[in-house]
Amino acid sequence: MKAIRKTCASSRPDLPVQRIDALAVVDAASANWSPGSLLVERRGRHFRILAIGVPADVDRHPASAGAGRTSLPDSILIPGLVNAHTHLDLTHLGPRPFRFEEGFVPWVDMVRTGRHAEDAQIAESVRLGIALCMAGGTVAVGDIAGAPRGRATLAPFQALAESGLAGVSFLEFFGIGRGVEATQSRLEALLAKADGSPSGAVRIGLQPHAPNTVGLPFYRWAAASAARGFPLSTHLAETPEEREFIRSATGPQRELLERFGLWEDSILEHIGHGHHPVAHLADVLASARFTVAHVNDADDAAIEILARTGATIAYCPRASAYFGAERHFGPHRYRDMLAAGIPVALGTDSIVNLPPEAADPAKGGMSILDEMRFLFARDRTDARTLLRMGTLAGADALGLDRSGFIFEPGNSLLGVVAVSAGKGTTPLDRALSSSKPPRLLFPEN
Ligand SMILES: [Zn+2]
Repeated sequence: MKAIRKTCASSRPDLPVQRIDALAVVDAASANWSPGSLLVERRGRHFRILAIGVPADVDRHPASAGAGRTSLPDSILIPGLVNAHTHLDLTHLGPRPFRFEEGFVPWVDMVRTGRHAEDAQIAESVRLGIALCMAGGTVAVGDIAGAPRGRATLAPFQALAESGLAGVSFLEFFGIGRGVEATQSRLEALLAKADGSPSGAVRIGLQPHAPNTVGLPFYRWAAASAARGFPLSTHLAETPEEREFIRSATGPQRELLERFGLWEDSILEHIGHGHHPVAHLADVLASARFTVAHVNDADDAAIEILARTGATIAYCPRASAYFGAERHFGPHRYRDMLAAGIPVALGTDSIVNLPPEAADPAKGGMSILDEMRFLFARDRTDARTLLRMGTLAGADALGLDRSGFIFEPGNSLLGVVAVSAGKGTTPLDRALSSSKPPRLLFPEN
């Protein structure tokens, strides 16, 4: 036994019951054991907790003696992480630079022309992304299934449904000005098809792309779909170009619509009335629950609307920094949002906006832990708050059972992650101050 602990070895990983002894076991609810031990039983894709506590507590469980064992004396165990906003179909593009002076539209052009358009290639890119997510300890995703050449596809949903991940595949769509009807009927057909698909751990949702590319009537159609059980997401208040377009119907976003021949003057019915993007969507947000990505641009009135309408924020800290959002709007107001009672989950956005290490599974891949560490280092945000953002808030946003992310006997976990300890006073501080990549213990990656 001592020899096993010293070498961090595993014994009998094939057995259905596994015991892990670690430096600590911590979740975002109330579990906080140090040293901590966990006894779990594999049940299909879930891992039911038989016992948890200090090692002596777990010793008392009758299944402990015959369990496979892993000793991780330098690691903190946390629940599997949730990436509430990502674009796995862009994974093949890899990390790319952003030229701040050129603004958002040339970057979007680069993504649009570089993305795959065929289902087989899209699925391959999604599978690459899934592997990078799992390398970073992620067990559930809110994945935005893009619409290459304006055509939504179920290929990302199918790739996700076959993987070990849970979550939602949000079908993204564009629709403002000309051509809305054709897009809507294609989406209706896909939703009808998805209704008949085996549901499993992944559901289909809808993602109107953003207020500058989707008209209010089309947003209302999406909101009505929530009553049919489809979760909703959208990009919101992300860029200064979006702010300008919604407020005054001018700027690069207007030029983009004109370039594609989509502009028509009826757009002015809803756009160009001096509104902030969040105020522009206020009625839609009040009519259905949305997960809104980014909200880099948030004044007090926007925070009040988001709190009142029950929206969840999917904040992508490194993406915001990559696009220089702070230079346009000031520091992201996620702490003000939390103080206003708004749930804030974490996302990575796509790999395109992540550092080069994100493309390397050995360096942690596309990790929500790295988003938490980024905020911990930059803002000194409380570590347990960050773990809540990276687990429970994301689970709630995706409609997942939160007991899959809470260390309590009887709960069925979606995953367990081991994080090497760095410096710090509490185990969770030590997990967030380390730079070592996490390791997903269950499910095996
Ligand atoms: Zn996004």
